[in-house]
Amino acid sequence: MKDQKKWAAKVAGEFRKLYPKADISLDYSTPLELLVATILSAQCTDARVNLVTKALFKKYRSAPDYAASPAGELEEDIRSTGFYQNKAKAIRQCAADIAEKHGGKVPGTMEELTALSGVGRKTANVILGQAFGVPGIVVDTHVVRVSGRLGMTANKNPEKIEQDLMALLPKKDWSVFSTRMILFGRNLCKARGPICGQCPLFDECPWEGKAT
Ligand code: SF4
Repeated sequence: MKDQKKWAAKVAGEFRKLYPKADISLDYSTPLELLVATILSAQCTDARVNLVTKALFKKYRSAPDYAASPAGELEEDIRSTGFYQNKAKAIRQCAADIAEKHGGKVPGTMEELTALSGVGRKTANVILGQAFGVPGIVVDTHVVRVSGRLGMTANKNPEKIEQDLMALLPKKDWSVFSTRMILFGRNLCKARGPICGQCPLFDECPWEGKAT
């Protein structure tokens, strides 16, 4: 574990150099907007989500606005993000829960967030880290892949990976580390064709499939 922590610190240091700001690229100005944008970002680029939410956030200003949207209308408004029927259903249900159980305000604890319809730990950790300043590791598809390649976990299950990474990194760095790992996964350690030749971790990366 000691060596693993040293390795995690090295990885975190290189990520920091690559992505000093570590901003998430979704546009939002309230926790509700971030929640909606995060739901829309599944299987969609953040750039596309930002295009859609520009108009969406002007039209729907509160949880009841989403919850009461007429059948088909929200679907049309978010259609270009893909999987729009499932996403509209998730947004409506979750907004209804927020309106009924939390007075229209997005709650700020893991327990309350994951009790909302359609909100799992990944989305909850995005909301907690970005909107409430509560550290958490966001385990998306990039973090699953990159943390495995870098030998920071032997697990495939997102919840177990979250635990493994939490054990390796200081709590204050959890959110920023996972944001940077997602950027690293998108830009360099891609699912297909990782750009290993430009990777600062190349020499020590233990992944057998790295491009030499
Ligand atoms: Fe990913 Fe390649 Fe870097 Fe290893 S060397 S972390 S596989 S980009």
